[in-house]
Amino acid sequence: MRNTSIAALATLATAEAATDGPCYLCVTCGTQFPESQKPPEHCPICEDERQYVGPDGQEWTTLDRLRTTHKNTIKKEEEHLYSINTAPKFGIGQRAFLIQTPKGNILWDCVGLIDDETIGRIRELGGIAEIAISHPHYYTSMVEWSRAFSNAPIHIHEAERPWVMRPDPCVRFWKGESQTLLGSLPLVRTGGHFEGYQVLLWPAGAGGRGALMAGDQPQICMDPKQVSFMWSYPNYIPLNAPTIRHILKCLDALDFDRIYGAFFVRGKGIVPTRGKEVVRRSAERYIKAIS
Ligand SMILES: [Zn+2]
Ligand SMILES: [Zn+2]
Repeated sequence: MRNTSIAALATLATAEAATDGPCYLCVTCGTQFPESQKPPEHCPICEDERQYVGPDGQEWTTLDRLRTTHKNTIKKEEEHLYSINTAPKFGIGQRAFLIQTPKGNILWDCVGLIDDETIGRIRELGGIAEIAISHPHYYTSMVEWSRAFSNAPIHIHEAERPWVMRPDPCVRFWKGESQTLLGSLPLVRTGGHFEGYQVLLWPAGAGGRGALMAGDQPQICMDPKQVSFMWSYPNYIPLNAPTIRHILKCLDALDFDRIYGAFFVRGKGIVPTRGKEVVRRSAERYIKAIS
């Protein structure tokens, strides 16, 4: 309790310091940085080997500007699951998901744009009680999302601490291999694409057969009967066999039938059924290909 009030005070203090300038967002990856008069010099997320600086060099925007050019649409995917998509594409172009549970709603992954319309619609759907994000490419404006929903805690694996560009008390780092979110949803660290890469299991998803909220990994392919795994997707850098085996072991222990990925464009970004078989077959094929 005491920690919560200290965290709330610290958040207020940071919010007051916002008069120093906007929180710039990187145009290529959508990551938001702390308040500053001038845009930051670099985006470490984009300069990392797994990403890239855009063809015209490092570019920045602000949420105010983004709100005049982009819109979010919220779409029902199945009972108690909604996807949040930004159009036109911004940053990496991923989607986020709102999962309704009897104990409160979870925002899975995140998008850079947050505006009054989005907040209003999500409030109608029950708001956001907790946030979890698969990996740093989707942290975007997560602090703004938390603030819009009563400082909802953001669960991120401790290994990703260096990749949090806008530190805030709402970010709760966790250690170990798994932890349970509201409504008994397990958050599992698989590693791979990022050291602290995490997936979320939604046991009530797919009509009770279970849904894996995968983000980027496993990545759903153009053929939704296949998934893949990469250290870098834009730069085509594969993972090694021991890492693939470890990811497979982590995912094999979870009960799911359906997989929801980060991208709508790729075959709708869903493995509708037999997701575990798809993961197993794809992982074995991958290991063969790199051996
Ligand atoms: Zn960036
Ligand atoms: Zn990624």
